[in-house]
Amino acid sequence: MHWPPLDPTELSTWRVYFGMPLVVTDACVLHTFDYLDSSRIIRLATRDLGIVSVVARGARRPRSKFGSAVDLFAQGVAHVQVKAARDLQTLVSFDLSSGRSRLSSDLDRFVAASAFVELALRTAHDESHHALFDVITTELDCIANAAGGLAPVAGLAACWRLIGELGFSPALDHCCVCHSKLAPDEQLPFSCQGGGVACTRCGSSLTASRLLPAGARAAIRGWLAPGSSGTGSTSDGLRLSTPELRAHQRLLREFLVFHVGDDRELRAFLSWERGAMGGS
Ligand SMILES: [Zn+2]
Repeated sequence: MHWPPLDPTELSTWRVYFGMPLVVTDACVLHTFDYLDSSRIIRLATRDLGIVSVVARGARRPRSKFGSAVDLFAQGVAHVQVKAARDLQTLVSFDLSSGRSRLSSDLDRFVAASAFVELALRTAHDESHHALFDVITTELDCIANAAGGLAPVAGLAACWRLIGELGFSPALDHCCVCHSKLAPDEQLPFSCQGGGVACTRCGSSLTASRLLPAGARAAIRGWLAPGSSGTGSTSDGLRLSTPELRAHQRLLREFLVFHVGDDRELRAFLSWERGAMGGS
């Protein structure tokens, strides 16, 4: 049997723990639910393993070694015992670096972060783990740090940034059918099936398209730009009225439903959207 040559950069990451590889990696808690009497099953975004499900044994006991380290949205260094061909791995320990309590203490931030994380869990499969991990954690920080009233905008930006990282950004500057260049100040038809905006001539042949105002197109372009954060330089101080927010959420949801391509409801996204409908 020939072992692949060892990558020296991985030496600090992979160790052997009771005969099974122990992976020490940056990680962020995306989902958590109770398991048996005292344990938790956690979905982690990790830098080195991608999205992984782990069991934290005894995490719900009063004096658990995990404490509050594995609460939703927490980030730190996970020690994961990995068994090949298993869907559920074992979380040995978790060194907390950020609890992101600002996400749990504010409803606007919480529902936006939940919708974003649901999207990450639904779409992230085999992409570069490093880049994806950075997008997830950076955008969660942006939502957590959003100024009053800007959490929904940060949430929209986070979702579009993730879409950009996953490589299915919509066409915004060229017609998605004939590829002709489009003027930035035009209101144009947007088609999820077509993959973006279309010129008015092509738009008439696209089914289920809706009109996208020039300002909304500019906002999405800004959110997709690498390095942008929802409330950062490219869309500085962008505030949306409730109808504008609802229109953005609806367009994003329709785009996601088409591109995510499974029949499961985007539950967290829908409750985020319904919250906005309630005029929060
Ligand atoms: Zn066209």
